[in-house]
Amino acid sequence: MSFDGVSVLVTGGTRGIGRGVVQAFASRGAKVTFTGRNEEAAAATIEASGNADNVRFVAADVANPESAQAAVDAAVEHGGGLDVVVNNAGITRDGLLMRMKDDDWSRVLDVNLSGTFFVTRAAARRLMKSRRGRLINITSVVGLTGNAGQANYAASKAGIAGFTKAVAKEMAARKVTANAVAPGFIQTDMTADLGDKVADELKNRIPLQRLGSVEDVAEVVVFLASEEAGYVTGQVIPVDGGMVM
Ligand code: NDP
Repeated sequence: MSFDGVSVLVTGGTRGIGRGVVQAFASRGAKVTFTGRNEEAAAATIEASGNADNVRFVAADVANPESAQAAVDAAVEHGGGLDVVVNNAGITRDGLLMRMKDDDWSRVLDVNLSGTFFVTRAAARRLMKSRRGRLINITSVVGLTGNAGQANYAASKAGIAGFTKAVAKEMAARKVTANAVAPGFIQTDMTADLGDKVADELKNRIPLQRLGSVEDVAEVVVFLASEEAGYVTGQVIPVDGGMVM
């Protein structure tokens, strides 16, 4: 799977899964632009990519439509167009429903779901111009199954699945594919506070008996972005060690 000269935008590439996705594309020759808000962490992503010339950071809050547009513009400038968009930026603000604050609800929906919409809308024309437009949205198995204490997060991630299918239907005539990847429990900052006991309990619920790595997710994203995946669209693909079947 070659990505020589392919222009890729990854949101939330300063850490975790997004950083792994940046690395996976950069190591295959893509021109990668990534967003986030932490400049220091961004520098570490560029260094880890091993291909600093091809990787560019743009500070952007995806929950802000102007910021999302600026990120797309930066990717077009850096890559000479835009072929692949990976909407990965996401947050959690967990709490039981009855105690969930308005702001915890709206911020999670704003970043995870509206952010995905703002970036996709800003990129749509460019993706349709590309010979091989690809949209990949990172959702979660929690969007498929629900999870106590994550009503906001589950709603945002289920929303991403519906959004992806609608966009897949709208853009299919222009040969753009749109898919979602639904990670299970992946070892990143987002899951770092679980503690060993919870991690062990989780492993018992995972048929492959381990938590996932960022590379497990990144490689599926890369496949969906490849020319070889041109006949896959509108799908939500779990990468979860078999947890949800
Ligand atoms: P991390 O918390 O490690 O990283 C989140 C990334 O999103 C950071 O780069 C952060 O950048 C960026 N980000 C957060 N808010 C914004 C914002 N408003 N605008 C732009 N960027 C933002 O998360 P993970 O790597 O674990 O998760 C990545 C995605 O995968 C998320 O969508 C998450 O929901 C999903 N996922 C993760 C799972 C897991 O087990 N880890 C399981 C299922 C899904 P910065 O801090 O620089 O702003």
